[in-house]
Amino acid sequence: MNYRDVFGEVLADHHESPRNWGLAVDAEIRENGFNPLCGDKVTLGLKMRDGKLVSCTFEGEGCSICMASASIMTEMVQGQPLDRVSGLIEGFRAKMQGEDRPDVLPSEDSSEDIVALYGIKRFPVRIKCALLPWTTLKKGLETPHA
Ligand code: ZN
Repeated sequence: MNYRDVFGEVLADHHESPRNWGLAVDAEIRENGFNPLCGDKVTLGLKMRDGKLVSCTFEGEGCSICMASASIMTEMVQGQPLDRVSGLIEGFRAKMQGEDRPDVLPSEDSSEDIVALYGIKRFPVRIKCALLPWTTLKKGLETPHA
């Protein structure tokens, strides 16, 4: 099956040309995530300053959905205030798990790419793949840091 036909141009593009790939040398937090259902592995490199997530980079090995999701996520959260990042994580999780949470971000109009990612809901066994980078980011943000 052709990935492009099934998942669309946006996800195929992020998969083929991942954004923010390669852990930044000045990343202060490294967080690993693993999805045993699929074998997806992702490592995030994070740097926070003045209440903002100034840098979010990633590396990993996994299926195309997981890698595309990580790429889209890093673009959305980089440079954002931490409370907005938390809202984006919670909003994405709720959306993927079919909860009606209009109070949390991201709204449909916040990024065209995230809407493409929402399409993964049609493939329930892949939802964990799409969520892995986001749950890993959540863990990383909760890590105590100087
Ligand atoms: Zn996967």
